Amino acid sequence: MKALRWHAARDLRLSDLPAPQPGPGEVLVQVAYCGICGSDLHEYADGPHSIPQQEPHPLSGCRAPLTLGHEFCGLVLAVGAGVERVQVGSRVAVEPEYRCGDCQYCRAGQYNLCQSMGFIGLMGDGGFAEQVRVPAYMLHPLPDSVSFKQAAVLEPAAVAFHALNQSRLLAGDSCVVFGLGPIGLLLILLARLRGVERIFAVDISPERRQLARDFGALEVLDGHAANLPQRLHELSGGGIDTAFEAAGSQQTLSLALHSLRKGGEVVLVGLMGEVSVDAFQLVNHELRLLGSVGYRNAYPPLIELLASGRLDLTRAVTRCVTLEQAVEHGFETLLRDKSQIKVLVNPNPSLAKA
Ligand SMILES: [Zn+2]
Ligand SMILES: [Zn+2]
Repeated sequence: MKALRWHAARDLRLSDLPAPQPGPGEVLVQVAYCGICGSDLHEYADGPHSIPQQEPHPLSGCRAPLTLGHEFCGLVLAVGAGVERVQVGSRVAVEPEYRCGDCQYCRAGQYNLCQSMGFIGLMGDGGFAEQVRVPAYMLHPLPDSVSFKQAAVLEPAAVAFHALNQSRLLAGDSCVVFGLGPIGLLLILLARLRGVERIFAVDISPERRQLARDFGALEVLDGHAANLPQRLHELSGGGIDTAFEAAGSQQTLSLALHSLRKGGEVVLVGLMGEVSVDAFQLVNHELRLLGSVGYRNAYPPLIELLASGRLDLTRAVTRCVTLEQAVEHGFETLLRDKSQIKVLVNPNPSLAKA
């Protein structure tokens, strides 16, 4: 079977590998679609970042070279011993977080904080392949009414869904999203679904600002505009309730903090290293600064929203490509074309219609 393997930065190779066999508690999935994520782009452009180089990941046993891709769905081809959640022929979405099931966080149900936390497709062989071996606990059966194309966007939607759950944002509140990549756009879509109408969106790319408008932002602002925090104070009538930082930079974090009302909050979704914050303002305005990583218990409610027709995630899909086209028309295109949101790779064209 064919798989797109990460060997080094700018070195993805389409390889022919023996078909994987599911062990106990594992399932073999024939991949229908696998979305290209920002983290895949990072690994491609200047990785490794999360890919294990020396020590194999404790739960996957994998290290480089490995198959990227964690945003996938498909058809169950075979099940290993002891698997009862799904059967051969089941249509499934994959929630790609590894979990040990045994640490204090897993036992508390906070499996996205697992001590051995990792993602299939970054720390283990993932979905840019015709077939992939997946632990059965990652699988969610899909109702017939949910297409594979919808299901392929569940993973980034789950990131946005969890960030919203971490926040205190309620219908009637105001929010601002900094950084309008797929996660930022999905935050807008899902906040609208929760009845939030005063949604502001900030990005330096005009293409991305237009997309944010299409996704339901009330006002979009240029990230380079002067007096951005003051403008947000005016637009929201006194300051923003919840700011989502999905750009991952010192500058946007500072802007986010200064755009808040007293008692407001910033939810960090973007990845950044060490940054400085105005702790004086944080204390005096009783601000909350919190992080959100991955997701937990987000797939079932999202699948329900898709099945009911209230949510359409295919709006985020701007292109579908084959495994052979993935590097040139997927990774390379996403790096230079800001009008692209989600590019899906389709390793098995026969499943694309299902
Ligand atoms: Zn992702
Ligand atoms: Zn754990």
